[in-house]
Amino acid sequence: MNGKELVAQLRALGVRGGGVLLVHTSFRAVRPVDGGPLALIAALREALGADGTLVMPTMTDGESPFDPAATPTSQMGITAELFWRQPGVVRSGHPGGSFAAAGPRAAEICAPQPLTPPHGPDSPVGRVHALGGQVLLLGVGHSEDTTLHLAEALAAVPYFVSHPCVVVVDGAPRTVAIAETDHCCRRFALVDGWLRAAGLQREGKVGRADARLAETRDIVRVAVEHLRADPLLFLCPAGEACEECDAARASVAP
Ligand SMILES: [Zn+2]
Repeated sequence: MNGKELVAQLRALGVRGGGVLLVHTSFRAVRPVDGGPLALIAALREALGADGTLVMPTMTDGESPFDPAATPTSQMGITAELFWRQPGVVRSGHPGGSFAAAGPRAAEICAPQPLTPPHGPDSPVGRVHALGGQVLLLGVGHSEDTTLHLAEALAAVPYFVSHPCVVVVDGAPRTVAIAETDHCCRRFALVDGWLRAAGLQREGKVGRADARLAETRDIVRVAVEHLRADPLLFLCPAGEACEECDAARASVAP
């Protein structure tokens, strides 16, 4: 697959020129691509055009003080890891939940944010939502879709789990607990069915990967509707021995 073919696939899928696009990707699923992950990044930018803004998660393990110009990503994949290192790409400052962006809205999307929640309305994903962006899942499913944590924040779900994260306070590193709506995220996959039933998800191939594309506002609206009916819907049922979801469940006040 070459870059030109990737651009054609991205456009056929419905990537909007001039828009804001948040991409979660597994390059292993997309390859082979002539030129590797950098050619995929170039194809995404070309599909968006000069007026479009490309956004990727660049989250880190929180084990050392975060430096947006140096700290490597943790479990975000090679594409995101190479993306934030490209010239002109802006990276946000959250010590665990940073994002990188390139394009005219990049600085606005990566502006400072509160520590908690990492993915609330005042965060990069919240700003992509406010700007009417799209979410593209390349070779990954909605279990990797951070925008669903925004939906949890907007629906005010009752679970919060705290994770230790090193932050710099008055020039000295200090470990703080950052509360987030964390769990195993496997049940985020339910969103596939909701979006498909409503005709709100485009699906196709990009490279060899299964690709899903949806409007951020559709994802959030549909998820918030379901969470209002059942705020614990995204947690594995008690008794399924999912440690992460059990911890989230245990955090709910009786
Ligand atoms: Zn679970």
